[in-house]
Amino acid sequence: MIYILLGLPGAGKGTQGELLSKKLGIPKVSTGDILRDAVRRATPLGQKAKEAMEKGQLVSDDIVIGIVEEKLKSRDCEKGCILDGFPRNLRQAQALEEFGLPLKAIYIKVPEDEVVRRLSARRVCPNCGAVYNLITSPPKKEGICDRCGTPLIQREDDREEVVRERIKVYREQTEPIVDYYRRRNALVEVDGQGSVEEVFSRLVEAI
Ligand code: AMP
Repeated sequence: MIYILLGLPGAGKGTQGELLSKKLGIPKVSTGDILRDAVRRATPLGQKAKEAMEKGQLVSDDIVIGIVEEKLKSRDCEKGCILDGFPRNLRQAQALEEFGLPLKAIYIKVPEDEVVRRLSARRVCPNCGAVYNLITSPPKKEGICDRCGTPLIQREDDREEVVRERIKVYREQTEPIVDYYRRRNALVEVDGQGSVEEVFSRLVEAI
């Protein structure tokens, strides 16, 4: 089974996807993480993706479909996987359907003002990828990653003006795929408000 996490930026797809990955024993594939890593390492992929990412816009479909295709064919994903951040528009959803694998979309619902609050308080570890929230789940030592001791940073695209653009892109391009999966009876909806544990137990119940 391929699980697809849907929801606004900051809805908790990464955090919930991590927990689900551990519970089900299948990997989480985040196109955003793969692209950010490529940008950091300045690979040819990173060079192609950088500009769109900095503006909060989508990277070209051909690039991201290629990334996901390679992952889905790898041995890691032979028992399925959890997709975080893909598909982001109808064309990507159609490309995913062409793989012919069973799909279940999980729509994590959080109001827009709540995600804006969460994203402005989000800090990430540039080394191990751990994610913190300065209000709800701060690191033990201010500004330092609990797991690996690296100084935390704010994601470039979590700055307010970029967040606005990402939300606009989500409304225009990604939201329509919620209906796409609903019509195929492949959608479950989860209230994404409350603690990480509360949301996760609702999510497990729903799937
Ligand atoms: P995320 O970490 O999922 O919020 O993704 C960060 C950025 O990576 C997005 O704002 C896009 O620029 C790019 N990105 C990630 N996934 C996709 C995708 N499926 N299609 C196009 N661009 C993507």
